[in-house]
Amino acid sequence: MSYGRDPKTLGAVGSYRQAASKVMKRPKSGSKGGGGFLFRDTYKPSLISPDMIRLVPGNYSIEVADDNHNVEVVSMPNYKYVKHYHARTKRTCVCSGGALSHVRGKRLPCLGCENFWDGMHTDASGKKKRGPMGMTDEYVFNVLHYAGYHEVEQVDRDTGQVKMGPQNKPYTEWVVCLQTYGVACPPCQQGKAMSNGRLLHWPLGYAHYNSLLAIDDQIGRSCSTCQQMDTIKTLAWLCQNEQCGEAIIEVGSTQHKPEDVKKLTVDKVTCPKCGFFGYLGDYYECQTCKNPKRATLFDVDMNALRVEEGAGDNKKTHLQISRWSQPRPIDERFRALAKPMQLEKIYAPTPIDIQARVWNLPLPATTQPQQTQQQQQQQQPAQTPYQPYQPQRMPPNDFQPPAMQPQQPLAQPNVQVLPLQQQQQPEPLHQPSVQEQLDQLMRPLQGMYKP
Ligand SMILES: [Zn+2]
Ligand SMILES: [Zn+2]
Ligand SMILES: [Zn+2]
Ligand SMILES: [Zn+2]
Repeated sequence: MSYGRDPKTLGAVGSYRQAASKVMKRPKSGSKGGGGFLFRDTYKPSLISPDMIRLVPGNYSIEVADDNHNVEVVSMPNYKYVKHYHARTKRTCVCSGGALSHVRGKRLPCLGCENFWDGMHTDASGKKKRGPMGMTDEYVFNVLHYAGYHEVEQVDRDTGQVKMGPQNKPYTEWVVCLQTYGVACPPCQQGKAMSNGRLLHWPLGYAHYNSLLAIDDQIGRSCSTCQQMDTIKTLAWLCQNEQCGEAIIEVGSTQHKPEDVKKLTVDKVTCPKCGFFGYLGDYYECQTCKNPKRATLFDVDMNALRVEEGAGDNKKTHLQISRWSQPRPIDERFRALAKPMQLEKIYAPTPIDIQARVWNLPLPATTQPQQTQQQQQQQQPAQTPYQPYQPQRMPPNDFQPPAMQPQQPLAQPNVQVLPLQQQQQPEPLHQPSVQEQLDQLMRPLQGMYKP
């Protein structure tokens, strides 16, 4: 049967999960990473007690390649980039290979990619292994952390000296107020000023990102119009061809297994009635209002905690989103902070000559940085043998959705409101010089000094 195409009750063409599914299509590496980016203002959920956060949507264009090497641009409220981590030098760079980085001859120049693919080998037991260079996808969100932050001078870990920047001004960094976690906070003891909340960027690996997506599913049962929880009920999934609207899956009577429904609703499918190939739109109702809108990850405040598991080299963390609020606007005390950052600039590809210096690897003989642009143009139309995906880049198969606790409405953010002049505006992007970028990359991991 067909349902009326009331645009208000139909999911947008390509819901968040559908776009996310597409962007996640490229195989991932099982690398543990561990280098960590050393950019300013990176968020990492606490290991001690849950942080209260809010994801802030932006609008980013992400290039995605299909199996035939066609590149398509997908709009996402979060950003995605590819990280190369070199195990010997323990240094990280952003991949400069582009959407076709897995295709020799079609990728843009990237030392990380060259070394990753060249490092592939078969070990004594016949297993395919990768070399020291890793390659993983990371998903980056703008996140508002509802906590106090202090601006402090950066201290060089090796020398214990304050790090000085240009014009003899000390480099500074923002650190979370440790009182957030119920312990004594040195900057507070020194009487340092505190900002009220802070906008940060949050890079997530594959497993943590999957945890977030699992939450999105559950948040989607709440309605952002009437702000009620668990009132949305999906009735059907419809063909999005304007002339058709066939209900391809009717929830009440479908013979499909739940896992098949999930698959059918995140990928493009062919309509059996009209032959249209595209995403299905979901048709839903709300138990309490006539104008339902499915809530997303970006409509709620949530608690985020990292939980450690394993030991030694096998130590890793799971992301646990234990609670979230009903859909609601961002608290007005924090709204001025909630402006998406230029993540495509913060996570811009590392130039290949800097990659070479950071990893102490030779530039390929044919790749002089000045020539790369021209070379690229010459290389583009060239016929190159098809290079199949390597199964080694599949995600580790150990992702466990975090245990869900019963939801309770979250309390209002418990953060002291400071006088207006303390409100932090997002800082203009700092454009670092090559040497500065290098310094940043070479700097030992400092990041957030969280307990
Ligand atoms: Zn690369
Ligand atoms: Zn403090
Ligand atoms: Zn159709
Ligand atoms: Zn509603």
